[in-house]
Amino acid sequence: MIIKNAKIVLEDKIIENGYLIVENKKIAAIEEGTTVKEGIDVEGKWVLPGFIDCHVHGGYGVDFETGDENRFETFAINVAKEGITKYLQASVTNSQTNNEKYYQEFGTFMSTKNQVGAKCLGAHMEGPFISPDRKGAHEVTLLIKPNIEITQKLIDLSNNNLKMVTYAGELQDGSYTSFLIENQIVPSIGHSNMEAYEFEKDYNLGARHITHLFNAMSGVDQRRPGLATAALNHHDVLVEVISDGIHIHPDTLKMIYDHKGPDNICIITDAMNAKGLPDGEYRLGELKVIKQNMTVALKETGVLAGAGATFDHNVRTYQQVCQIPMTQLIKMTSINIAKQLGIFESTGSLTLNKLADIVVLDENLNVAMTIIEGSVGYKN
Ligand SMILES: [Zn+2]
Repeated sequence: MIIKNAKIVLEDKIIENGYLIVENKKIAAIEEGTTVKEGIDVEGKWVLPGFIDCHVHGGYGVDFETGDENRFETFAINVAKEGITKYLQASVTNSQTNNEKYYQEFGTFMSTKNQVGAKCLGAHMEGPFISPDRKGAHEVTLLIKPNIEITQKLIDLSNNNLKMVTYAGELQDGSYTSFLIENQIVPSIGHSNMEAYEFEKDYNLGARHITHLFNAMSGVDQRRPGLATAALNHHDVLVEVISDGIHIHPDTLKMIYDHKGPDNICIITDAMNAKGLPDGEYRLGELKVIKQNMTVALKETGVLAGAGATFDHNVRTYQQVCQIPMTQLIKMTSINIAKQLGIFESTGSLTLNKLADIVVLDENLNVAMTIIEGSVGYKN
């Protein structure tokens, strides 16, 4: 496959007019200029590394918990529309009985069916090890303290496909953080009511990831600085940001960008199952929610309940708010999280011999095409 007449965004520069050759799923050449060889003519559009969402529960009518036995495949096929080539499928707080069922089904999907659409890299478990004080839309009666035994069971059931866990750091003494790191699982501190100093324990053990900065956590109060303060103060900590313009005000998006810089932000969706569906009433676990445009809120209280925006929307929003140059933007969509997940040697940037995970965007950053490991997964 050849992709030509492309504005190619590399790590250190932009090729204004070039072409890319894909062979055996990988990037075999990146050249300046034009070619007479036949290929996909993208007519001057942007060509970027495919997006990686490390925190997405679902969309298109399915999620980790709901839908039939093909739900994980349904999601993988549909999410390619958003420019996503790799992702972690996130679970919400469930009972242990239900989690065992879901993680076993997920493990089966990962070992036998993870072949169509965007590639799932594993699971991101968000709950039940979170703080009742910062529970967001999680079911409070099911929350428990971080538990190694329970986690080990889910690791086994998922065939070693648990790759990230969100938990409140203050609910454990550091042993849980160490357990995750020993098992090559990314510890992500979030849904937490800790004071900033309490983060040091986990930071010193190696925790470098924060779940949706500012949402569901203690903040930047001047006398009781919380987790958000610790996340901003540590410049080598990667923060997830839901940049839909709803979960975080644009002025706060600016503050995060100025403080963390493009090297320490990763854009996420945190999307739930109603993403990509018409407005109306849906369910988030046992709770009734209303989706209106990209906002999803609990029917009873109006509290935000996951997100309804697509990844490409969040990319456009952050780019417009901060006028982010494309070579910086790709860090926030692909590079930083690929490094965090330990897959940067094989994907995350347009580099020779890496997997051909590619998104083509028009001048308004709308997705025109998504290429996953050398195959077209979506075409507008
Ligand atoms: Zn979430």
